[in-house]
Amino acid sequence: MITVGVLGLQGAVREHIHSIERSGHQAVVVKKVEQLNEIDGLILPGGESTTMRRLIDKYAFLEPLRQFGEAGKPIFGTCAGLILLANKITNQEGYHLGLMDMTVTRNAFGRQKESFEATLQIEGVADDYDAVFIRAPYINAVGAGVNVLSTYQGAIVAAEEGPFLCASFHPELTKDDRLVQYFIKKIEESKKHLQVKA
Ligand code: GLN
Repeated sequence: MITVGVLGLQGAVREHIHSIERSGHQAVVVKKVEQLNEIDGLILPGGESTTMRRLIDKYAFLEPLRQFGEAGKPIFGTCAGLILLANKITNQEGYHLGLMDMTVTRNAFGRQKESFEATLQIEGVADDYDAVFIRAPYINAVGAGVNVLSTYQGAIVAAEEGPFLCASFHPELTKDDRLVQYFIKKIEESKKHLQVKA
């Protein structure tokens, strides 16, 4: 049995919980650091990355989240969650978790495109994935260890690096659970791998 946590400090938390449950797995809202010990993988939801960071600091989540990732546990960052995972943010000093080797730009699609939908090809996931973008970031550049999974108009909008997965859009806002299922597969693989190591 796989248990997937959703960081529940701010943002689109419930929708992710429902999508994990629709996929037949157990989902928990993570509001306390100790809960990180009870989950096999974690979703960082969309919302507002600056607000989320403020709450991460307030509840002393930063180091425990980094350690969770550094231990090889899978993390899936969507929209604001993608920004939290990056190790470089355009026009900004510093970063949040810095677990993925990539540069991201916040609100990157411009004001006239505050929110929009687009059909994407996502490597290993789908050729016809309808994605919802809301004040979305994109990925400008990735390091050698990062695998680009999807682009939209030349911008990188989904990628993975080892146990980490990220998307510029909101997979939880549609009924298409293929991307979360891809993440769950990653968790299953990492569980096997971590068991062998233990
Ligand atoms: N623009 C937001 C940020 O910078 C992200 C938007 C979202 O998560 N929908 O954090």
